[in-house]
Amino acid sequence: MKNNTINNSNIITREIKTTRDILKPIENKIRGGACVVCGEKGFNRVAIHGQNNGVYLCDNCYNGHLKPYHTTQRNGYTEANGARKTNDKISIGFELETNGHARDVLAHLCFLGFSVESDCTVDREFISPIYTSFSSISKVLGLVESYQNNPNIDFDVLRDNVGLHTHFGYNNAPIDAKIVANKKALFQPLADYINALPISVQRKYFGRAFIDCEYCTKEVSANHTSVFNFQHSNTIEFRLMKFSNAQQTAHTMKIMRAVLEICFKNINNESIENIACAMVKKLDKEIR
Ligand SMILES: [Zn+2]
Repeated sequence: MKNNTINNSNIITREIKTTRDILKPIENKIRGGACVVCGEKGFNRVAIHGQNNGVYLCDNCYNGHLKPYHTTQRNGYTEANGARKTNDKISIGFELETNGHARDVLAHLCFLGFSVESDCTVDREFISPIYTSFSSISKVLGLVESYQNNPNIDFDVLRDNVGLHTHFGYNNAPIDAKIVANKKALFQPLADYINALPISVQRKYFGRAFIDCEYCTKEVSANHTSVFNFQHSNTIEFRLMKFSNAQQTAHTMKIMRAVLEICFKNINNESIENIACAMVKKLDKEIR
């Protein structure tokens, strides 16, 4: 009888050992990976669409403790050397301010190359990679729309307090000094034109109107709230936009790209007045 007991124990011991042996490779598989947000070791696996094995978040990021605004190194949307250029040489990046703490969105956007910061005025600010094609922009805006429309996900980009500040860079280089020096003469007529549009038209095209937003002023100045902001060396930032829906947002980004292209391409062979006038005309043609 004693032997039986011992034998049983042996069997149990053996089974535990066997189970451990089986578990070992599984433990290896679930031992974590680089946190998709900050790169630290992470053990929280989050499933995201199109990524069956999910991605990892470290405990800090999983619990929503993100780096505060402006503590991370911003690159001013400098393209890496050798980055692919578009035909018109214009690249686009954007800062998407959001409300809500959805982990799915955090994990997914960071997986797609966004970086994220917490902000005092909104819950999170996602900083996009630099895009050189509208197909990638449309895809990611479609994703934002699908998260916005999902009632089970704590994510909101439609409130007036969240902007979609859009950055336009040209030729993989700092913004021409002549543009910066003449920013008021070049861009104030454009800002005045937008401001004079009916509120409903402003909201339709830009997602919000000047009267809707606190941190976007119609005076073109050296202030960071200026509707056209020149504080980033490599981009002109357009601050009026807010996400409305994927299609309209992409369309308006295209319009603004075409408007700014006039300035980027003609700054050294046309007068400041002509360029300012041509930009207003172009926007008027696209919007009317
Ligand atoms: Zn992390």
